[in-house]
Amino acid sequence: MQVFGLVGNPVGHSLSPPMHEAAYEALDIDARYVTFEPEREALATAIDGARALGVRGLNVTIPYKEAVRDLVTVDDVAARIGAVNTVDFGGDEPTGHNTDAAGARRALEAQGGAALDGADAVVVGAGGAGRAVAHGLADAGARVAIANRTVERATALAGDVAGASGHELDELDALLADADVLVNATSVGMEADESPVPADALHAGLVVLDAVYVPLSTRLLSDAEAAGATTVDGAWMLLYQGAEAFELWTGRDAPVDAMNSALRNRLEDRYRV
Ligand code: NAP
Repeated sequence: MQVFGLVGNPVGHSLSPPMHEAAYEALDIDARYVTFEPEREALATAIDGARALGVRGLNVTIPYKEAVRDLVTVDDVAARIGAVNTVDFGGDEPTGHNTDAAGARRALEAQGGAALDGADAVVVGAGGAGRAVAHGLADAGARVAIANRTVERATALAGDVAGASGHELDELDALLADADVLVNATSVGMEADESPVPADALHAGLVVLDAVYVPLSTRLLSDAEAAGATTVDGAWMLLYQGAEAFELWTGRDAPVDAMNSALRNRLEDRYRV
């Protein structure tokens, strides 16, 4: 039996176990996905121990995504984002990857029909999710404008992302006028009926992804729908980052439909979203 898992603290509410175990069941893979909560000072020992025990792959979540960078060999995307959310033990040494970037990109392409190469994209937020999304969209060929409450963080992130620019939130109206893609990568809207984007800046030419997934139908997405935009909820981003990790570990196409059903069932059970 193969063992995969998640390292973070806390991880009790993670949606990853049902999502990954649905994939193993769909493809008849003899595997389990378990959660681990090491203390910070035991993180290096935990990664070494997982490898020694034959764990095949680990996802990494808050608060360890940055610390794990120093314990594995990071790929280019994870190095640029500055965070690792997936460790692969399949090679000679553990490698670190960031699948949040591809998760956002695949969600926009597969569920929003977005053509990212040459697109004008606006990313709201410059925290962990904002970093991953901005790099992911730029790598796919989009011109990325980053707007953030703390404008210094937007400007600093823009300096790290190819061709990107940093902005204040009150520039969103102007930025969105000609944009093709909008991603909310702030926590605004999480368990609150609030949006970081003025409703009247939204239009039918936009594909809008909200990284927030509790609730699934956020204020931003309902405003976007009312404006005629195409909407993609945050569970799709979560799903595709998991699908990307699954594919990295197993070399097989992820059974996206099975993973999506399991994820949405668990979201409904837990949060009544
Ligand atoms: P983070 O690193 O703490 O960053 C938070 C971001 O939200 C910052 O840009 C912050 O702006 C902004 N923000 C917070 N409160 C705000 C407010 N009242 N008004 C305007 N901006 C505000 O968090 P994160 O890890 O990036 O996560 C952000 C969201 O994405 C969370 O809801 C998380 O659940 C979600 N997420 C979803 C996925 C997925 O797969 N769907 C993956 C990762 C994260 P400042 O810089 O000004 O503080």
